[in-house]
Amino acid sequence: MDVVEKYDLIVFGGGKAGKTLAMDEARAGKRVAMIEAGMIGGSCINVACIPSKTLIRSAEIAHLLTASAQFGMPGSAVGPDMSIVAARTGNVVAEMVKTNQSGFDASGLELVIGWGRFVAPRTIEVTEVGGSRQLTADRIFLNLGTVADIPEIPGLQEADPLTHVEALRLTGPVRKLLILGGGFIALELGQAFKRLGADVTLIERGPRLLPREDADVAAAILKTMEDEGIKIALGCNVSQVSGKSGEAVTLTAADGSTFDGTHLLVATGRKPRTENMGLELAGVEMDDRGFIKVDDRLRTTATGIWAMGEVAGTPMFTHASLDDYRIVKSDLYGGPRRTSDRTIPYCVFIDPEFARIGLGEDEARRKGVDHRVARLPMDVIPRARTLSRRGGFMKAIIAAQNDEILGFSMLGVNAGDVMSVVQMAMIGKLPYTSLRDCIFAHPTISEGLNMLFANVRSPI
Ligand SMILES: Cc1cc2nc3c(=O)[nH]c(=O)nc-3n(C[C@H](O)[C@H](O)[C@H](O)COP(=O)(O)OP(=O)(O)OC[C@H]3O[C@@H](n4cnc5c(N)ncnc54)[C@H](O)[C@@H]3O)c2cc1C
Repeated sequence: MDVVEKYDLIVFGGGKAGKTLAMDEARAGKRVAMIEAGMIGGSCINVACIPSKTLIRSAEIAHLLTASAQFGMPGSAVGPDMSIVAARTGNVVAEMVKTNQSGFDASGLELVIGWGRFVAPRTIEVTEVGGSRQLTADRIFLNLGTVADIPEIPGLQEADPLTHVEALRLTGPVRKLLILGGGFIALELGQAFKRLGADVTLIERGPRLLPREDADVAAAILKTMEDEGIKIALGCNVSQVSGKSGEAVTLTAADGSTFDGTHLLVATGRKPRTENMGLELAGVEMDDRGFIKVDDRLRTTATGIWAMGEVAGTPMFTHASLDDYRIVKSDLYGGPRRTSDRTIPYCVFIDPEFARIGLGEDEARRKGVDHRVARLPMDVIPRARTLSRRGGFMKAIIAAQNDEILGFSMLGVNAGDVMSVVQMAMIGKLPYTSLRDCIFAHPTISEGLNMLFANVRSPI
């Protein structure tokens, strides 16, 4: 305990950016320690993207079965067995944890499992099972992530609500699920649990869903959810919670309305894991919400310490955390990459998917960007018809002066993959006409881009 062990570099928190950097540097011969509380591979694999998308796939199958007659296969659908759903999710997670562990082992990094905190400017103490160690390095990389933020509502803590972590591990049926929040996680899990047999009510404080998306996108997503029977209460301020999640729980709103459920899931936002980490001892400053302050090369206010991923205020996506690794790597080796140079796409795995990159229509208007708009309902795309997946639309924002594509949003089947096609055109700074006139294979959803970009209009 008196000895401070010296490494070439320490990665503190093994999220997407951190583990990628740690393996890279270890493979290059550096002495690397990665301190991780216990989630081998970080949140994405253990409690976030991977288990949620696996559960969503089970929910999609359940949904398809209810519509089997429409595809010429009449017969009664059976209800889901949540223990099998949970086992399948657990297996996919376990497999990916194993792959990550093998990658760590092969790279030569030292994985230090335990809870870490700074005890001196460049020294981290790690509490391991059966003792503690102190580690130091000239270069330290913080990739500590975020956790679900439980709002301070009387009775909420006592109700023992689910967060995504527990919700994704449920092994039994959920009869009546109340969800606090109306963001991406609430929508994805709300739709999945509805399809897995729950009666679902989403309670959102704001006046609309997804305030950062275009109003027509938010309205279409609201309709999609409501058409599936998910109840959504907007502008609803919950002021009191009583009962226990898993048994019976009641939410009371400021206007006196009440909501009853068997389970309560909180998805109201996330807070950085920076409390009690001793960051002030290291000279690492935080903003007023607790996120680590960084410059556009992800350097913190302490020399030799970088921060990456959600804890650094990076958009909350795995691919954004991965790109933080690229930026830090570039900084370490004298490269030019900056966070200010990048555009981060994203996909929300509701059904139909929602994907977006770049400028939205409302944002273009607000910022006074001289633009044109192209729209296409999914319904006219032949592939959408063959699949009976006709819901949603595509929309692109085009620069008025030079035909460049500034943004693309899509609510529709395969939205994430179609967006990547548009993203390539944006990266290559191609005019929209190159997608309008491109030969796409028929019948694919991407073929809809021909029609979309034939519809370019000046805004009304
Ligand atoms: C339900 C859900 C679904 C999501 N789905 C998607 C999706 O489909 N696509 C997508 O791109 N993104 C998705 N995300 C977001 C995505 O999971 C994160 O953006 C991504 O995992 C990047 O996280 P990170 O690199 O910042 O840190 P994390 O992966 O959170 O890693 C931080 C690590 O630090 C460790 N740690 C923290 N404090 C300490 C300490 N004191 N000592 C030791 N270790 C510590 C933690 O154990 C953790 O492993 C989802 C998130 C949630 C919650």
